[in-house]
Amino acid sequence: MSASPIHRRTLAGLAKGLKQREFSSVEVARAFLDRLESSQPDLNAFVTVTRDAALASAAVADRRLAAGEGGPLTGLPLAHKDIFCTEGVLTSCGSKMLANFVSPYDATVVARLREAGTVMLGKANMDEFAMGSSNETSHFGPVRNPWDVARVPGGSSGGSAAAVAARVAPAATATDTGGSIRQPAALCGVTGIKPTYGRVSRYGMIAFASSLDQGGLITISAEDAALLLGAIAGFDPRDSTSVDTPVPDYAATLGEPLAGLRIGLVREFFDKGLDARCEARIREALAVYEKLGAKLVEVSCPNLPLSVPTYYVVAPAECSSNLARFDGVRFGHRCEQPRNLADLYRRSRGEGFGAEVKRRIMTGTYVLSAGYYDAYYLKAQRVRQLISADFARAFGECDVLVGPTSPTPAFPLGAKTSDPITMYLNDIYTIGANLAGLPGMSIPCGFVDGLPVGLQLVGPHFSEARMLNVAHRYQTETDWHLQVPAAYA
Ligand code: GLN
Repeated sequence: MSASPIHRRTLAGLAKGLKQREFSSVEVARAFLDRLESSQPDLNAFVTVTRDAALASAAVADRRLAAGEGGPLTGLPLAHKDIFCTEGVLTSCGSKMLANFVSPYDATVVARLREAGTVMLGKANMDEFAMGSSNETSHFGPVRNPWDVARVPGGSSGGSAAAVAARVAPAATATDTGGSIRQPAALCGVTGIKPTYGRVSRYGMIAFASSLDQGGLITISAEDAALLLGAIAGFDPRDSTSVDTPVPDYAATLGEPLAGLRIGLVREFFDKGLDARCEARIREALAVYEKLGAKLVEVSCPNLPLSVPTYYVVAPAECSSNLARFDGVRFGHRCEQPRNLADLYRRSRGEGFGAEVKRRIMTGTYVLSAGYYDAYYLKAQRVRQLISADFARAFGECDVLVGPTSPTPAFPLGAKTSDPITMYLNDIYTIGANLAGLPGMSIPCGFVDGLPVGLQLVGPHFSEARMLNVAHRYQTETDWHLQVPAAYA
């Protein structure tokens, strides 16, 4: 039997091939760059392709590997979501506002992965400023789902998810403020992990809603996620919310048995909004876990149905404050011939931001305004506490929560763009984890009409090692995560 082609390998498989000199890092980078470039007209998963720099860093990696140097990630290619600052490379955040912004420094996530020897293939397309659930708000045009190019890949990390699903990149960084790693991972049939708030540095990750934003990964498998998470997690003095707790060896515990694991089924997750065919896939996955020795317990998080309205007060409030820095003065888009300072601000922002970003800034400014602050923002913060308390109570009865990631499979492009509320409801199952700062994952668990379905795992704070173990054991029993869309096989 011939070995699988380069693009069909997981990161772990590529690392093995590099070590055994089956191929060089330059060959690997070239294979992915060629696929990536030819996928662009259909998928539009990238804003920037960094071919020359990728081949140069792959050549450096090859020299290190030949000298017997380098670590487990040396020479492995990946993509970075265009929300992460990359020195000397356009960092657009999916916005016209930053369509001319070449970052003078690397985000900590980017720097750590670079130091670990990975090779950046390019910058992945995304919803503008990470606001969206379908990747249709990008200034650079929508990303398309490789399983059906008439459908959305999910958002906001749609470029990262589509790239991994089509195997035009074997892994990608991503960010999750209300579901933007897990939801696109689910809709594209790949593995996504949003770590605990504070586990991964936000330095150099363009801020949307600072109390919710968390960097993470989209990969083929939980094993690959474990490999990369070890490199990006850990304290960073440049992010005051980064937590100083030791980073475990995530790969070491992947194979632990699941006997006795208590899986919590959140009653509120299995509501009437959940597509019945998706629910069937989730129940089949739960049966796999039972076979592995896990016990299912029903738990309730009664305040969870309030997570969408709570989030859509808190996130816009924080975004209205974070995005105030884009004023046309220091960096980013500046209008032509401003008449005075107010005109400069007004027109630069009016021209630079798209409709969804403006909607969020207006909502956020409103809920923070004198007279409405108590009624909206403060109320939302109180409900947020109740939601956190619900999770804490649930984790008294179980070790991990398992349920759907998204209420439906990928929907057609344009289907929800005219109705923001319908769009926001896509996030119903993912937002709770962000409000409570909990880690979450989505792993592929089957198909509905040829479209992938995601299984969501949510764990207690800093339980990434256990969650990766729970995901990995499922992936040793099933091969949903190894399925590739026919057009990209
Ligand atoms: N879909 C959510 C929103 O539009 C979440 C986005 C995210 O996680 N970045 O805000």
